[in-house]
Amino acid sequence: MLKGFLKRFSEERPVTHKKIKPTIIPRSEHSISRNDISRNALKVLYRLDGAGFGAYLVGGCVRDLLFGRRPKDYDIATNALPEEVRKLFKNSRLIGKRFRLAHIVFGKEIIEVATFRTHHESASEAHGKSSHQGMIMRDNVYGDIEDDVWRRDFTINALYYNIADFSVVDYTGGMADIKSKTLRMIGNPEQRFHEDPVRLLRAARFVGKLQIQISPETEQSLMQMSHLLQHVSHARLFQETLKLFQEGALLATFKLLEKYNFLSALFPQTVDCLTQPEARKLLEEALSATDQRILDGKSVSPAFLLAALLWFPILKQTQRFQAENLPPYVALERALQHVIKLQTQQLAIPRIMTTTIRELCVLQYHFNHCYGSKPYRILEHPRFRAAYDLLVLRSIAGEPVSELAKWWTDFQEADHVQREKLLKTTAPARPKKRSRPRRFIKKRNPATPTA
Ligand code: ATP
Ligand code: MG
Repeated sequence: MLKGFLKRFSEERPVTHKKIKPTIIPRSEHSISRNDISRNALKVLYRLDGAGFGAYLVGGCVRDLLFGRRPKDYDIATNALPEEVRKLFKNSRLIGKRFRLAHIVFGKEIIEVATFRTHHESASEAHGKSSHQGMIMRDNVYGDIEDDVWRRDFTINALYYNIADFSVVDYTGGMADIKSKTLRMIGNPEQRFHEDPVRLLRAARFVGKLQIQISPETEQSLMQMSHLLQHVSHARLFQETLKLFQEGALLATFKLLEKYNFLSALFPQTVDCLTQPEARKLLEEALSATDQRILDGKSVSPAFLLAALLWFPILKQTQRFQAENLPPYVALERALQHVIKLQTQQLAIPRIMTTTIRELCVLQYHFNHCYGSKPYRILEHPRFRAAYDLLVLRSIAGEPVSELAKWWTDFQEADHVQREKLLKTTAPARPKKRSRPRRFIKKRNPATPTA
C-alpha cells in the first residue's frame, strides 16, 4: 500500500515547475451564482468536496457563466484520481485513452470530471509524450491545480470555481481578460499552437461565439499558423468542425476562419468557389439561417451545412463532367463521388452524413421533375424538407431556380385538388424524351443538371 502511495505521488503527481500565487476572487467579487449552475454539477462538486477532495468547475462553464451565458456543459477538475471518482459515483464510467476521465451520468446530462493533469514538459517520459513537431501526443499525468492550469489553452478557459468557498481561483489573469473581453493564449502562443494546432480552431470558435477580441501576441502568431492544421488527424478536425457548427455564431466564425486562412484546411474545394458571388451568398444565407435556428432553440443538421458548403464545388464538377458529354444525372453522381472523396481526405465525415449530403444533392436534380406521380414521391422523401431548404437557398443566392423553388413551395402547401391543378398548369416544362437510344448519341448539349 505504501509502495502504491509513493508511486502515486512520485510518478503521477510530479513536482510542479511553476510556483505562482493565484488571485482568489471571493464570492462577493464575481458574478457566478449557484442558481445558474446545473444541479447535477453541484451534486458532483459537493460529493467530491464532502469526501475530502478539491472540487472545482473549470473551463468553458466558468467562462460562460462569467460572460452571463448559459454553459452548454460542465467540466469539473479535482485532485481525486479517476478510480476514486468512479468509487464515489455509482452512475459514473471511466472513458478515454488520450485523457482518462470520469463521466457522471444523470439521464441526458453528463458531468465530466477530470483529475488535475500536469503540462507535458514537467511530466515523466513514460506518461507525457510529444511528437517531433512539438505536438502533444499523450498528456495523462496527474498533478495539482497549479500544474493543471498551465496546460489549458486560453486565460479565460483557466479559471477555477471552488465549491469549498465559492471563490474563483485565477492563476493567469483570466478574470481581467473576461472583463476586457480578450482571448489570450497562456504562455508562448507560437509554442502552444504548435503543441496542439486545434487551438487555432478553438480560438476562432471562442472569438466568433463570444464576440471578443484576440490579444495582439496571440493574433500575431495565429495569423501564421494555419499550415499546422494539416498535422491534425481528420477525425479530430471533423469533431472540431462539428463544434463550430453548433455554437450559434457560425457566420461570424466562418468569416474568422476565412480571415485566418483556416477554411482552406477544412474545406479547400469550397474556398476555390468563394470567388463566385452566388457561392458566397448561398453559404452566408445557410450560416445565418443556422444561427437563427440555434437562437430559436431548434436543432441543427450538420449534414445540411456540409451540403451547403459543398454544393458549389459539386455543381462546378457536375458542369465539368457534363462538358465531357456525360448525361446530367451521371455527371451529378460522378461529381458527388469526386467532391466527397476529396473532402473526406480533409475531414473524417462519417458515411451516414455523406449519404445525407448525396441525398440532398440528388434531390436537387429530381426537383426538376414536376410531372406525373414523381412530385408526390419526392414529397414523401425523408430528406425532402432539408433538400427544399437548400433549393430555396440556391434561389436566394441567385441560381436560376426561383421558379422551381416557388413551384415546390406552392405544391407542398396545396391540397390534393390544387396539387393536380399545379401539375397540369404551372409545372416547369417536362424534359423531352430521348428520341434515340443513348448508345447512338455521340454529342450532347452540356446543360446543368439543376437549371
Ligand atoms: P465549450 O465546451 O463551450 O466548447 P470549452 O472551453 O469548455 O468550450 P472543452 O473542449 O469542453 O471546451 O474543454 C474544457 C477545457 O479544457 C477548456 O476550457 C480548456 O481549459 C481545456 N482544453 C480543451 N481543449 C484544450 C486544448 N486543445 N488545449 C488546451 N486546453 C484545452
Ligand atoms: Mg466545455
